[in-house]
Amino acid sequence: MKPDFTAMSGLQTIVEREAMLLAPYAMHSADSRGRRHAETEHAYRGPFQRDRDRIVHSAAFRRLSGKMQVFTGDMGDYHRTRLTHTHEVASIARTLGRSLRLNEDLIEALALFHDIGHPPYGHAGEEALDQCLQDAGGFSHNQYALTIAEELEIRYHRFPGLNLTQEVLEGQAVRADKRAPQQPLLEVQVVDVADSITYDAHDTDDAVKLGLVTLDDLRRLELIRETMENVQQRFGTLNPELTRKAVVHELIDVQVSDVLQVAGAYLSEHPPEHAEAARCLEFRLGPSQGFLEKKMELERFLYAQVYRHPRLIAMRTRAQHRLKTLFGTFVDQENLLPPRFRKRGQSVGIERSVADYLAGMTDRFCEQKFEQLTAGRVVG
Ligand code: MG
Repeated sequence: MKPDFTAMSGLQTIVEREAMLLAPYAMHSADSRGRRHAETEHAYRGPFQRDRDRIVHSAAFRRLSGKMQVFTGDMGDYHRTRLTHTHEVASIARTLGRSLRLNEDLIEALALFHDIGHPPYGHAGEEALDQCLQDAGGFSHNQYALTIAEELEIRYHRFPGLNLTQEVLEGQAVRADKRAPQQPLLEVQVVDVADSITYDAHDTDDAVKLGLVTLDDLRRLELIRETMENVQQRFGTLNPELTRKAVVHELIDVQVSDVLQVAGAYLSEHPPEHAEAARCLEFRLGPSQGFLEKKMELERFLYAQVYRHPRLIAMRTRAQHRLKTLFGTFVDQENLLPPRFRKRGQSVGIERSVADYLAGMTDRFCEQKFEQLTAGRVVG
């Protein structure tokens, strides 16, 4: 159903606000394709603001605080969790979106939602669940985010799920299946770009802080070397702790500036007339070619030296063993499942339902369940 906005006397409506602030090619709330289950529009919150609020108030969002990004909780308490990563993405995405005059409310909702489907133990957990479900369609955190939004969160009496707008759901669907014929909205592209800027910067920070790599190791990379030279030029010689922090700030700043420079130049020369037209452009938001190569060098380094570090490999093995053991245990003994997932098994199949239950767990809860269910017996 198309939204119907009614002004409250004296207050600026979302339509008035967006007409003033947004570019014609931004996704305007008035053009939203609405929600699957028709709802009356809110008097002073636009549809994407409501999406954001629904996401923030969901159980799955709160659980992001207990889910690891790259490093587990027992490695310390400095590094990012899935929740703090999400907030950093939202902040950078909003900066990009505001500069490009896109819809910040939609961007914020998309950013806060983008990692909501991550199972415990990050990508290690995702791989384990995907292997468990290899004969039942596999597991993808991007797809699972849609299951959360449409089926698993129960917040309203009239329908299951969060009943988010089609724009947020479609933005997530594109993440789940990148073969879509059309480009996603620019707001969706902004969040993708912000995600990559964010993890390249914070994984570098966390890896140095945790002692997995040193700034000297990183200096071999062109992007970091340039960043360190900029820092030296601006602030002189800093101690290692402050150097690390300044490098991370600079790393975000140069990436955001590069993306904005490219996008700003293109969009001012070829401004699409509306959001739909922006989806047909040859142009896609992202770093310049020169920058992309330097960024890929950093990413290859992080992959080899950090994500595949022996400490992380050991964690992966443990995490995958836990998840696979729990999967087998719950599939064999459905009576151990919470009633709603037992019941869900009748419609989606027991394997899928068990994976849905496991994927919703925080790292700590998953560990507790494992200890509880395997106490006193050897599980191979
Ligand atoms: Mg992310």
